[in-house]
Amino acid sequence: MTRLLPTSTAGSLPKPSWLAEPEKLWSPWKLQGDALIEGKQDALRVALQEQTCAGIDIVSDGEQTRQHFVTTFIEHLAGVDFNQRETVRIRNRYDASVPTVVGAVSREKPVFVEDAKFLRQQTKAPIKWALPGPMTMIDTLYDAHYKSREKLAWEFAAILNQEARELEAAGVDIIQFDEPAYNVFFDEVNDWGIATLERAIEGLKCQTAVHICYGYGIKANTDWKKTLGDEWRQYEKIFPKIQQSNIDMVSLECQNSHVPMDLIELIRGKKVMVGAIDVASHTVETPEEVAATLRKALQFVDAGNLYPCTNCGMAPLPRAVARGKLQALAAGAAIVRQELTA
Ligand SMILES: [Zn+2]
Repeated sequence: MTRLLPTSTAGSLPKPSWLAEPEKLWSPWKLQGDALIEGKQDALRVALQEQTCAGIDIVSDGEQTRQHFVTTFIEHLAGVDFNQRETVRIRNRYDASVPTVVGAVSREKPVFVEDAKFLRQQTKAPIKWALPGPMTMIDTLYDAHYKSREKLAWEFAAILNQEARELEAAGVDIIQFDEPAYNVFFDEVNDWGIATLERAIEGLKCQTAVHICYGYGIKANTDWKKTLGDEWRQYEKIFPKIQQSNIDMVSLECQNSHVPMDLIELIRGKKVMVGAIDVASHTVETPEEVAATLRKALQFVDAGNLYPCTNCGMAPLPRAVARGKLQALAAGAAIVRQELTA
């Protein structure tokens, strides 16, 4: 990225109402068959256009072709039975009915590679592609086969590496692994979570990122956040090990959050995607609010390593709100960019 403070999003954007019911997670598709394939591609074009018009520098597919950031990837794998469902507690926070691992897991065909090629054809801008991380994947499943979270995570890491290598070959510039589970299972993160992530990025020459957030603005998450107290120090437990890892970039939640900004110091040297947009609120930030968050972050990140971003995905937000937030992000970054270069 040549430009200072290149902007991007954590990943997802709202889907058009003709494709899926808005403001809802796991929203069912409204189209079928070939119409669905075409509809997803059209939605991807719209998501790209909205990012481009807003002035976002590093673009994504807005996750328009997936129903959910974890489930859709898992649906493409062998060894998981979606008809055999069990209720599990996701990230120790809310119960969900999830599919069951019934045998050895494997990736029989690419999952997002065609979508990535399609996005690559539509733009010359740098592309970021999000994949679920190994720990967050195992946390969204019931495992009746391996009976070991660690073992299953290593299996998923190998599968993710296959997918990531093909995404890189398709022209993706940054591959991001979403690991909200890192904010919950600190011991596992340090014991094997980061090691499995390094397995997932093995051999990649493109940039790699890990996104660690406090989740979408859904009720289970906002209720959980109320229990975390005035200072959210979760990052403190995992940053030292991430700082020593091979991951190039870390995507974090900072806007309206109770995360003390000085924790970023613990990953000094990494590129930091600073969340300057709150996805749990429908209030659109002003460019000045975005700028204020970025200025604060600059105390702990070198300007050349600062990537203004959103706290998390914006899939559950109304489209007009998400559009406003994209514009605010770009405008806020522009203010600080000008200050830095003046
Ligand atoms: Zn997130």
